[in-house]
Amino acid sequence: MSSTSSIQPDVGEAMRVPARRYGVLLSRRGRQNPYMTLIGALLSHRTKDEVAEKAEERLFGKASTSEGTLLLSESKIRKLIYPVVFCRRKARMIREASKILVEKHGGKVPMDGELLTELPGVGGKTADCALCFAFGKAVMPIDAHVEVVSKRLGISDEGDGSEAVREKLHLLIPPRKRMAANWLLVEFGKEFCGSIRPRCPPCPIMGFRKRRARSLYARVG
Ligand code: SF4
Repeated sequence: MSSTSSIQPDVGEAMRVPARRYGVLLSRRGRQNPYMTLIGALLSHRTKDEVAEKAEERLFGKASTSEGTLLLSESKIRKLIYPVVFCRRKARMIREASKILVEKHGGKVPMDGELLTELPGVGGKTADCALCFAFGKAVMPIDAHVEVVSKRLGISDEGDGSEAVREKLHLLIPPRKRMAANWLLVEFGKEFCGSIRPRCPPCPIMGFRKRRARSLYARVG
């Protein structure tokens, strides 16, 4: 799995497994609220999905717009998002980013990667989440699930950083399919191909690529 071109047929085959499995789930996904998408991505950084999701629910239950968030104090935001990792710093960033959105962008999230990454706490991945999930842009946000699954499927190499993983995924997946592919890889990573202990049996990819999957398992196990 060293060269991207040599594994393209396998990747296409492998991607059909999550597509079949999560197709129904995928069809329910629509464009998301840009502000909630941006703040949700910021909250999820280095935090378990279930912890970040509960923090989102508490925070958005009180404020789901930049204007609304400015009515909350930093300490109130911190209490709402606790125990996400770096909750003190994230509370400050969420309030500062909301202030900039109100003062410079009329309370709206800009549909522009450069403007997004000028916001406190918003790096490339967080900006890509907003561009992809809220604005439907053809970029793949590379979170931990996407990176791990891409490497296990042989789409990218073990030593690749997130930028290299993104480039290789963009080469393989046409723009109109990138948002869907991202969801599929994330859901597949959550259910089977976790970073620490992949559940090879009963992973459905084992069924059609048994020999190859075993070698992958040996590599990661
Ligand atoms: S067989 Fe194992 S390593 Fe391969 S995709 Fe499935 S869970 Fe991941």
